[in-house]
Amino acid sequence: MNSRRDFLQKITGGLIILNLPTSSSAKAGLIDSLPYEGPVLRVALMGLGGYAKRVADGLLESKMAKLTGLISGTPEKLSNWQSKYKVAEANCYNYENFDRIKDNPEIDAVYVTTPNALHHDQVIQIAKAGKHVICEKPMAISSKEGNEMIEACNKANVKLLVGYRMHFEANTLEVVKMRKEGKLGKVLFFQGLCGFKIGDPKQWRLNKTLSGGGSMMDIGIYALNGARYMVGEEPIWVTAQETKTDNEIFKDGIDETIQFQMGFPSGAVASCLSTYNMNNLDRFFLTAEKGFAELQPAAGYGPIEGKTNKGKLNNPHRYHQTVQMDEMAGIILKGNEPVIPIDGYEAVKDLKIIEAIYKAVKIGKKIKL
Ligand code: NAD
Repeated sequence: MNSRRDFLQKITGGLIILNLPTSSSAKAGLIDSLPYEGPVLRVALMGLGGYAKRVADGLLESKMAKLTGLISGTPEKLSNWQSKYKVAEANCYNYENFDRIKDNPEIDAVYVTTPNALHHDQVIQIAKAGKHVICEKPMAISSKEGNEMIEACNKANVKLLVGYRMHFEANTLEVVKMRKEGKLGKVLFFQGLCGFKIGDPKQWRLNKTLSGGGSMMDIGIYALNGARYMVGEEPIWVTAQETKTDNEIFKDGIDETIQFQMGFPSGAVASCLSTYNMNNLDRFFLTAEKGFAELQPAAGYGPIEGKTNKGKLNNPHRYHQTVQMDEMAGIILKGNEPVIPIDGYEAVKDLKIIEAIYKAVKIGKKIKL
């Protein structure tokens, strides 16, 4: 990760070094390196696993958000993370006592990075404690649960954001901007391919009770969500087919590979693949009347490589979770509007389509949305 602190060390006496490069991305990098004195979102992480570590590392470089609390069921993890990320003992909780967070003025928001099926109850409990919530994708394991989470957050008057980090990625946003400005012309077709070969057969991702589903819930959601922001419309129909090569690893309710197709009001169509059984599969392709856009990789941790009919996209790579947390702090603290929605309503749209995809697999028919 490029360190903002390393850069700041090169600045002496509050004055910025001369000989500045003049490209706009270099200027953006410079502005990004200036000290920040505005409000800061103080975040507690719930569920200290693989993804939480990425978020914690990202927060080390964020300007507008910082890690001030931890919630875990494993005391050893709590103490290791506490010393590694310099979190005060008083801001560490377990799953039995984290309701007490409501009395902690050093925590503004809780970021939920636990297995999918736990999100619903945890988000509602956090909302009841009066803290803003950032919840990982998929937001929940059903649209019904998602709606209940939205309702609980609305009732408690707290914000609910979902961890769609690609919504803040610079090359992705450049394509969305080109499409919105009509530079690509009428959108005709989107292809989204997302997958990886899953490892340990005992992990929660392959346990329906904890995951709510297989590849579609976990990685196919990127192709689905991507189709929506790349095309810029909501699908009106979907159909899908499943392929399963291993019934032992991919038990009932855990999809291994799903291909799904969607149609949009303008007549644009999408064809997507979601899988737990292929590596090197991370590509978006959009074709339109005046041009095309390709992102490959499209949804990994980056760098996201992009090109259009006009040439290569050159936005510099930034650690996704740092950008996401700064942007989310702006949304929560300043009421900023994201280019692509990032709230519970956006996430419930994906869950409803996933439900229709699973239904289409079962009945083998096109489903109207
Ligand atoms: P993980 O297995 O690495 O971490 C899950 C954490 O939850 C662990 O620390 C585990 O101890 C804890 N946990 C609490 N209660 C548990 C229970 N009853 N059973 C099992 N674990 C329990 O998983 P992860 O990869 O960090 O994924 C967590 C969430 O983050 C998921 O919703 C996943 O979809 C999401 N995620 C998002 C991204 C992204 O790029 N936005 C990437 C990876 C994961």
